[in-house]
This record gives sequence, structure tokens and C-alpha cells, in this order.
Amino acid sequence: TVLDTGAHIALTERYAAHNYHPLPVVLEHGEGAWVTDVEGRRYLDCLAGYSALNFGHGHPRLLARAHAQLDRLTLTSRAFLNDQLGPFAESLCRLTGKEMVLPMNTGAEAVETAIKVARKWGYRVKGVPEGEASIVVMEGNFHGRTTTIVSFSDDKVARDEYGPYTPGFRTVTYGDADALRRAVDDTTVAVLLEPVQGEGGVVIPPEGYLREVRAICDEAGALMVADEIQSGLARTGRTFACDHEDVVPDVYVLGKALGGGLYPVSAIAADQAVLGVISPGSHGSTFGGNPLAAAIGHEVVAMLEEGTFQADAARLGRVLEEGLRPLVGAGLDAIRVRGLWAGLDVSPGGPTGRELCERLLARGVLAKDTHGSTIRLAPPLVVTDDEVGRLVDAVAASIG
Ligand code: PLP
Repeated sequence: TVLDTGAHIALTERYAAHNYHPLPVVLEHGEGAWVTDVEGRRYLDCLAGYSALNFGHGHPRLLARAHAQLDRLTLTSRAFLNDQLGPFAESLCRLTGKEMVLPMNTGAEAVETAIKVARKWGYRVKGVPEGEASIVVMEGNFHGRTTTIVSFSDDKVARDEYGPYTPGFRTVTYGDADALRRAVDDTTVAVLLEPVQGEGGVVIPPEGYLREVRAICDEAGALMVADEIQSGLARTGRTFACDHEDVVPDVYVLGKALGGGLYPVSAIAADQAVLGVISPGSHGSTFGGNPLAAAIGHEVVAMLEEGTFQADAARLGRVLEEGLRPLVGAGLDAIRVRGLWAGLDVSPGGPTGRELCERLLARGVLAKDTHGSTIRLAPPLVVTDDEVGRLVDAVAASIG
């Protein structure tokens, strides 16, 4: 039996836990920037899997590579080697300019990996007394959903009733270098931040902030850990959001688009002096670095090395910004745009973020609110100028 939208919603609500509040649309097909629902209606996907779909749905190169690998070998575990991980790791080192990578699956796992590596590095290399390492994090952060990560979230809904919480984190205001300078001390092993806060509402720190973070980390002898899970891999018009300030962090945390939207692939990348603290048995994952993940990740890196996605994101981002700018003061309070990534604050008295997304849905555009009156736009980087124009028109028609 073919189920309609209402039946799918009822079934999902009944049998799947309610940890999300999805828009009432049931998708069954995707190609490029477009998805189709079970009623045959088409939508421009302007969430793009929270930027996991930077290359669009079903990119032919990624599909071909995945299909070929599916037929050959999908999982070995790291108890044995496979012929895909080495070449993938080498390519990711080239892309990041780092000496080593540690592959995982989800973004939260990669963040956890960075935290573990930073602590071990702190005890082994920096000489922090064991158990005393501190990591400075940012207000408004989003790094994932594990118990340790929600321990340093300031989002009540994400954090409440999941304690006891993991200690060892200090929170400072995002974008305030003086606050960061005051927070670091001899116990600080890392500063963990998103170079652009995605879930926070595409919050771009003041120009020069990332360079100051870099300098503060250097002075304090702490690792600068950049969570580029959402901001990285071409979304902002550069390979990494840190590139906008020519800043190179000690650790890149990558995920989402690293798996091309086909498969969960995450990793951290750092130099031997940092990742060398990991020894056999001290960290791992059954699926991390599996041949299917590595094949897809390798193809993603090869696509990024051509530079066209970055260039397209930069150019289309200007088109998007030019289109949205006139709406500030005419339904929008503010817009923040970096590459093909925009946060929109709806003016008081206008629709809530949720209502705006419902109106966009009715106009064939998928987007997601983040907090209250803020929505985020992040179409796949394969959209056309025309499609960006359609998005702007849909927003303009929906904010009134
Ligand atoms: N870090 C950042 C910056 C993110 O945006 C996200 C997901 O939205 C994560 C970490 C967590 O990734 P995952 O949902 O794959 O665990």
C-alpha cells in the first residue's frame, strides 16, 4: 500500500520517538538541489541536510564511487587494514595541510575525539596534572548531542535532565577575545569553537577574532580546535571557514559533507605532534574508517580539490546576499551571510521562524528555523542563480 503524507506522519509519530519536530512534508526522492515528496510535489532543498548535502542529492560522482565500493567491500573494522583508508587519509591531510587524520562517523564522535585528544595531549605534552585539563568553549555553541558535549551546551532543551555533567569546560562569550584571554590558564588544553556558529543562527564572529583566538592559543600553549563540521568543506566560499582569516587551527573537526550526504563520515585532522598521542586501544570505532566511508570521503576530497564548489558558494552567496539585503527593514531585522549560508532574523510582529518555514514550504522551499525567530538558509552548492532568485522571492513573499 502506498501511504500519503498524513499516514506517514501518523506512523512516524506513533513509532519513532519525538526528538524532532519536522515540517509536515514526507520526502521520497532527491536530485541535485531538489527533493520530491510522496504526493509528487517538488521543493528546493535550502537546508541541505544541515550542510551535509553541499554537493546536492545524489551527486553522480559520489553515487558512482559509492556503488562501486558497495560491490567490493564495505566493512573490515580497524582490526585489519583496507585499501581505501590510506588513500583517503592522505587526501584529507593534503586538503587540511595536516599530517594525520583520525576517522570517525558522526560529527559528535569527531568532537568527542578532539576533546579526548586535546586532554591526552595536555597531560602528555603540555604537562597538565592528570584530571585537571580545561577546555574553553563558546556561548551559543552547538557541537552535538553526547552527554559530554551537552554538558557544555547552554541550550537548556538540549542539556536539561541529562546530568550528571562532564566537568572540565569553561564558557566564554563568542567573539570576545578579551573574555577568552581571561579564561585561559595553565590548565587550558584547548579552545573549541565553531568559526561560524551554525545552529546558533549563522553567527559570524567579528573580523579578526579567529586570528586573536589563534594568538591566544599560541600564547597559552593550548590547541585551537575548529569545529568545521557545518562551516567547512566549501559552504562559506572557502574550503574552511577559518580560511577567511587565514587562520590554521591545530585541529580541524570535520563531518557532515565529508560523507557527501550519502553516509556518515567524520574525522579530525592534526599534526603528528598532537595526534601522535593516540596509541592502539586508546580510541576507536567499529565503523570509523571503513572502506565505504573512506571511498566516499576520498571522492568528496577529490571534488573539493578542484575548487569549483568553493568558488560557486562564494559567487552564489553574493547573489543571495544581494537578494536578501533589501528585505532588511522590510520584514527582516538582520541577515548574516557567509558564502552560500545565511541566517535571517525575522522582525518582531512577523511570523515566527517556524511559521516562516511553513510558508516557505507552501511555496516549494525547504528551510529550518534555529532559535525562535531565526531561520537558516543553506542550499546545496549546486543551485543555479535562478534557483537562488526563487529562494529570495519565496522569502520576500513569506515574511510579510
Ligand atoms: N558540530 C557542529 C558545528 C554541528 O553543526 C553539528 C551538527 O549539526 C555537530 C557538531 C554534530 O554532528 P552530528 O549530528 O553528525 O553528530
